Amino acid sequence: MKGFAMLKIGATGWVEKEKPACGPLDAICRPIALAPCTSDVHTVWAGAIGDRKDMILGHEAVGEVVEVGAYVKDFKPGDKVLVSAITPDWGALASQGGYAMHSGGMLAGWKFSNFKDGVFGEYFHVNEADANLALLPEGMDLGAACMISDMVPTGFHGAELADIQYGDNVAVIGIGPVGLMSVAAAAIRGAANIYAVGSRKNCADLALDFGATKIVNYREGDIVEQIMELTRGEGVEKIIVAGGDNDTFDQAIRMLKPGGKIGNVNYLGEGDTIKIPRVEWGCGMGHKQIVGGLMPGGRYRSEMLARLVTAGRIHPEKLITHKFNGLENVEPALMLMKDKPRDLIKPLVIID
Ligand code: NDP
Ligand code: ZN
Repeated sequence: MKGFAMLKIGATGWVEKEKPACGPLDAICRPIALAPCTSDVHTVWAGAIGDRKDMILGHEAVGEVVEVGAYVKDFKPGDKVLVSAITPDWGALASQGGYAMHSGGMLAGWKFSNFKDGVFGEYFHVNEADANLALLPEGMDLGAACMISDMVPTGFHGAELADIQYGDNVAVIGIGPVGLMSVAAAAIRGAANIYAVGSRKNCADLALDFGATKIVNYREGDIVEQIMELTRGEGVEKIIVAGGDNDTFDQAIRMLKPGGKIGNVNYLGEGDTIKIPRVEWGCGMGHKQIVGGLMPGGRYRSEMLARLVTAGRIHPEKLITHKFNGLENVEPALMLMKDKPRDLIKPLVIID
């Protein structure tokens, strides 16, 4: 089979490989919709997970099952499925302890395009199919379905980590596709004011559509000053970080109320340390929490989030700004993600 791969750090290309083998608990799928991710860009061009040789990229897909292992109960060839980007080993102790995404080691629940070939191939392998796949709901838009792989669960995880409660004033820093889903999650969890930080117009428009009450443009001034002014000097109770850099934590601590929580889902790609402003952190006694997390993954989460889509409560299909047809077009779709033109939110590739 052919697949679009990371050849080494900084280089991509098409490779020929054996079709993956199916274990007794596993499934082999073919993709029917694919999306590249900012994480694929970090993997190839920033060397984020170290070097990989000829590893097929991609972890966001909707699939059709072509083969299942002898112990798979709930799926059969021909089923159309939602595929979670994070596919933990559900029997592992880390999973039993509540941290499935770290089963097998820190971040090791992330297998596609990390420890094994990803989904940008003619076929891909899914471990523990019963626990990591979900049936594609009848009539669901393929763009929305593909966003349930990663953008929806990761954006929603930011809201879980920040522990958003009704009435909270919330800042969402970064409103690319992940942050936009965090805005939607904050709105669903009952946030009062949602201050969405970004600069691209189409992202800002969609943030308002998804429930943001105010856009804060980080290119037009210090976001701490802007958010302190909007909150009459009080700051916010909760912050979701889905963009920015190491300095973003410094800003977040400064605009966070005592007792507040910061949920980070942003990938931090540079530097050895993160600065926390000492005095604004209450000299260590301000009860200002920072939690960063990889989203948990798995079937239950996919089914619950799919329910929000079919009930019309969230509209992740609105993230799709660019559409392609055919597996060969994962290459230009990924390049689009790398170049990030200002009208891009998320590309989608449909495969017949
Ligand atoms: P995008 O690049 O599309 O969005 C980033 C956002 O951050 C944009 O809104 C951008 O603004 C904003 N931004 C950039 N610099 C700053 C700054 N200095 N201050 C404030 N805002 C800033 O990324 P994605 O939405 O695709 O992904 C977001 C992050 O989530 C990535 O790091 C990705 O790797 C990570 N991720 C994490 C996962 C997890 O499980 N934890 C899974 C998937 C992704 P502008 O409008 O100017 O572009
Ligand atoms: Zn992704």
